[in-house]
Amino acid sequence: MIQFVSTRGDIVDGQNEVCFSEAILNPMANYGGLYAPTSLPMLPTDFASKFQDKSYKELAKYILNSFDIDIHEADIDTALNLYDNFDDPANPVPVVKIGEKLFACELYRGPTRAFKDMAIQPFGSILAALVQKTDQKQLILVATSGDTGPAALDSFKEKANIKVVCLYPHKGTSDVQRLQMTTQAGSNLKVIGINGTFDDAQTALKRLLECEDFKQKLDKTDTNLTAANSVNFGRIIFQIIYHIHSYIQLVKAKQISQGDKIDLCIPSGNFGNALGAYYAKKMGLPIDHILIASNQNNILTQFINDGIYDIRDRQIVKTTSPAMDILKSSNIERVIYDMFGSSRTKELMENLNTHKIFELTNDEKQKIQKVFKATYCDDNFAKKTMKTYYEDGYLMDPHTATCIKAVQQFQTDKTIVISSTAQWSKFAPTVLNAIQNDDIRYTDKESIDIISTITNETTTENISNLWRKEILHKDIIDPEDIDKHIIKFV
Ligand SMILES: *Cc1c(COP(=O)(O)O)cnc(C)c1O
Repeated sequence: MIQFVSTRGDIVDGQNEVCFSEAILNPMANYGGLYAPTSLPMLPTDFASKFQDKSYKELAKYILNSFDIDIHEADIDTALNLYDNFDDPANPVPVVKIGEKLFACELYRGPTRAFKDMAIQPFGSILAALVQKTDQKQLILVATSGDTGPAALDSFKEKANIKVVCLYPHKGTSDVQRLQMTTQAGSNLKVIGINGTFDDAQTALKRLLECEDFKQKLDKTDTNLTAANSVNFGRIIFQIIYHIHSYIQLVKAKQISQGDKIDLCIPSGNFGNALGAYYAKKMGLPIDHILIASNQNNILTQFINDGIYDIRDRQIVKTTSPAMDILKSSNIERVIYDMFGSSRTKELMENLNTHKIFELTNDEKQKIQKVFKATYCDDNFAKKTMKTYYEDGYLMDPHTATCIKAVQQFQTDKTIVISSTAQWSKFAPTVLNAIQNDDIRYTDKESIDIISTITNETTTENISNLWRKEILHKDIIDPEDIDKHIIKFV
């Protein structure tokens, strides 16, 4: 059984290793560390031919089994059956050719139309099953820049013994994202807008996860606290699988031969998707480089190119790819731990907390650059890219469009798979501005209607019905008041 340890090397209750269930129920190890696996299973060298005629669920089951996690088989099956709610149950994650040696892995074909469904759907199911067995109550905190929230609410609604509090940046999301959350029914759900950014929401969440006083208050109601953000390894494990699956698809379609190295290109924020790719590479998936794409909030570009993580003078810039408007990219910590060990991780993360900066040595930087390359683009580049691809017959969202900057800049000779992380309908005004090359301020609803008319694209009823639903969650509060609000709800 693969065990998990704190990235900062802390000992918890006299033990430094925990099993999977413990790591997902209490995702923050003490003193701010995250749980990371002590080892990874290896893929068999003939995995592509072995799995090319198997379903996504069969591949997923095989990989989860190879991690040997302490989750009952029936609960794993129930979790994976949720992929049946995707557009095509036989292939929930299609890989589409969009250029010469260029493919898009469409990760957004689940119920909320963003790639978060890929992991949160099955993760939510497994967490709910665990909670039901312990008979304890569970409070799940979610901080969202707009896509995690809807996916988590959808996954946890009406699950016994579970309550969910979802914090989103008021004015920081698209209409669709906000409505997906504020109209979500469920007696166990609470959605709160924060006067602040996603980082403010995530900082509040991490503070609460570590706050003894808050935990004691919850204890009185017999409630345990956990998080559904990608600080939770329970999400990361599901983000390894689709990278392997897209490779198998390419082999099956005879676009590559088994063993050929490919590049993955990932529009990144909290680095969960990219971390999944990193683990997949370590497990033996033939990946040459993982190309990290950012928007103008280019902290990851600076980190990977210069080895410096410096948030001293940075403010979040609002962009047309809001899911990547982030400065504190949590999962970088797991990569640093994996490459440089826990005491170095602790040192660097403490530097970040105290001085708002940390710096890698030259050797460390080179080690990072062996795996990752990074670049960023501005909104204008993304806009032009969406138009070019639209005219070529492919509609992409503004997050996915940032990948094209990396594809052009690095011009690798490899086949590249970009992660397509959201459907156009989640960011329709931006997509419409791009394809019409205008700056008109459309509403989400208008632009969805126009795009559906001028293209053959449709969106789901889940999205087109949003405007007919009642707003059930109206709270907008300051970050300082979060604790009070949550305790009252619980
Ligand atoms: C969450 C999200 C991202 C960033 O993914 P990370 O795993 O946080 O790096 C990119 N695009 C979209 C549309 C997202 O919802």
